[in-house]
Amino acid sequence: PNIVPDVTCTACGCLCDDIELTIEGQRITAAKQACALGKSRFLSFRNEPRPTCFLQGQPATLAAGIERAAQLLTAAKYPLVFGLTETTIAAQRAAVAIADWLGAVVDATAGDYHGASGLAFPKVGESTCSLGEVKNRGDLILFWGTDPAESHPRHFERYSLQPAGLFVPRGRADRTCVVIDVRQNKTAEQADQLIAVKPGSDFEAIWTLRALLAGIEVDPEQVATTTGQSLDVWKQLLAQLKRAKYGVIFFGAGITQTRGQHANGDALRALTRDLNRHTRFVCRLNRAECNSSGADNVAAWQTGYALGVNLAQGYPRFSPGEYTAAAVLTRQEADAALIVSGNPLAQLPSPAKAHLATIPLIALHSQFNSTTPAADVVFNVATSGIEIPGTMYRFDDVPVPLHSVFTATQPSDHEVLLAIEQRVKELKKSK
Ligand code: SF4
Repeated sequence: PNIVPDVTCTACGCLCDDIELTIEGQRITAAKQACALGKSRFLSFRNEPRPTCFLQGQPATLAAGIERAAQLLTAAKYPLVFGLTETTIAAQRAAVAIADWLGAVVDATAGDYHGASGLAFPKVGESTCSLGEVKNRGDLILFWGTDPAESHPRHFERYSLQPAGLFVPRGRADRTCVVIDVRQNKTAEQADQLIAVKPGSDFEAIWTLRALLAGIEVDPEQVATTTGQSLDVWKQLLAQLKRAKYGVIFFGAGITQTRGQHANGDALRALTRDLNRHTRFVCRLNRAECNSSGADNVAAWQTGYALGVNLAQGYPRFSPGEYTAAAVLTRQEADAALIVSGNPLAQLPSPAKAHLATIPLIALHSQFNSTTPAADVVFNVATSGIEIPGTMYRFDDVPVPLHSVFTATQPSDHEVLLAIEQRVKELKKSK
């Protein structure tokens, strides 16, 4: 067997780059260091030739697929370029360039979810850090509306709870961990304290902490009724937060996809900013997809905005909630879609899914999923990080290189997208 060290796993946003693979023939037979999620990604992979392109479910040549995709996209009045979170930055860059030529709406899979982040950033600013700083400095870790024990299985081991760091040499023993959630989740089992809040009351809870921090009197009865926890619990938590030398708040869909949505993101960032008057505090969104951060960064380089961007007027307009994919599809405005990685038919809300199933669809992915049968053109592309190298952004915006451990049997999505872009350009110029 061939042993390949330091391979990057792309099964979640942690992008662990310490995986040791054992290769036997065309298969991976062991993935040391990987968690169960990572192992299943590596061990299920087969480096075998497979049809590259399908038109209406029938195998076709790559050239025919590229021509059909370019024709469908240029014929559309309101095209949507969507997905992007599970591919390399090179492919993301090519996809945004296609959107630019088409005057399309471009959005990432988790656009609505991350919209909270996108809106809060210009309004409130951001006190943030890399996961390296969390590892070396973080002595109070607060998980709010996120369950990394499920979504990022090695989060604790590599970054947040267990590793010994420069200022936390005893690892877990030097850290306090608090979970705020509506229920006892898997992360709470590893925490020192769980504060269970009433569903949909995160904004009120955050605002209570901000008020206490600012020395504003609050009504104990109202706090208990709205948040489900007594004022004393919030006072004790605040004292604990202020005692930290380096506090870190990780948040997730439990905040950004519940009542309040982007207002919750604004509030949490504002609380982090306020806490910096007392001690050092940072906050980070726990992103599950392997390259959500890359999608934001690439879209921001090329359009000025991270997601939910409409390029129809020849200049970018940014409006999460209006130009995010779910909204554009629910309003039945998009009339063709280019899906780059991911499985939107499994992820979007029902009305958006229903419309997506009625419009011309071009899908690029390395594994068939429930979106595949609905697509007019399917490109079965090489697997990033196993068959092709590249770069992805970890969820703390740190770029991580991917290596290839096999020779690809398929073209990469980057190559297919460049070819579509070239043909779209020609068709646009000839009109
Ligand atoms: Fe892969 Fe995520 Fe597990 Fe790391 S934590 S091995 S990136 S699935």
